[in-house]
Amino acid sequence: MSKNGKVSKQKNVKANCRIFALAQQKGGVGKTTTVINLGAALVGLGYKVLLVDFDPQGALSAGVGVDSYSLKQTIYDAMVDSDLELEKIILSTQMGCDLLPGNIDLSAAEVQLANEPGRDQILKEKFAPLVTKYNYILIDCPPSLGLLTLNALAAATDVIIPVQTQYFALRGMALLLKTIKKVQTRINQNLKVFGILPTLHDNRTTHAKEILEDLASNYPDMLLKTIIPQTIKLPDSAIAGKSVLSFSNNSSAAQAYKNLAQEVINRG
Ligand code: ADP
Ligand code: MG
Repeated sequence: MSKNGKVSKQKNVKANCRIFALAQQKGGVGKTTTVINLGAALVGLGYKVLLVDFDPQGALSAGVGVDSYSLKQTIYDAMVDSDLELEKIILSTQMGCDLLPGNIDLSAAEVQLANEPGRDQILKEKFAPLVTKYNYILIDCPPSLGLLTLNALAAATDVIIPVQTQYFALRGMALLLKTIKKVQTRINQNLKVFGILPTLHDNRTTHAKEILEDLASNYPDMLLKTIIPQTIKLPDSAIAGKSVLSFSNNSSAAQAYKNLAQEVINRG
């Protein structure tokens, strides 16, 4: 509480940091877009947020205005050097959240770590000093179920599965859920499926509505309330290097990501 009696905008960081992995082996479903805009919405509510670019494509870093190719060190270096702390790599961004940058170097990590003892626990171990510093850590996973995604799932408290409400949306879902189940039994009992997030949803087409119905009947307990609409505002905001909340705060996409942030907070 400040002198004038107002609650300060920045939320206190307690030890109960929640770590969300945005995972789905399919590309183009809105993982990176969700990390950026859910992050921005949580920052807007006063939370301390760290975004983690764990995809060798580096789209998250670029999306928050960081040229990860010009950096001396990225999350790759910390993954392969057990003495290098993540705090040495974290950058602050113009969006108000922090970033652990990544780039194409990460693609070598899977091979380099293949014979490392406890190779799926490295990220979790590295996160340990960070959990008292952030309310939310959001991990942008690559479009595969390889070692990087396993590290993300091992380190996470929650997983959000973005699903595009278009053809073949459910393809691969059984395999992803099976992988998550194995992680839950073998390496991370604290991991919860926070939910399936319908993305790029075009509610003018019957087809998209049918996919949504399929999701609701196949995964009734997993489907989130929030639906992310398909809108040009999202790629446009990405090109402008901004979150959709600062690019077009009154848009349906900005509202959807604010709703998602509320869902995340309410289901703590
Ligand atoms: P992923 O990380 O799963 O590969 P992205 O978040 O990069 O997916 O999204 C893929 C492409 O689709 C990007 O060009 C992005 O701007 C665009 N996009 C993402 N979400 C939406 C949406 N709701 N409406 C329209 N375009 C979107
Ligand atoms: Mg991506």
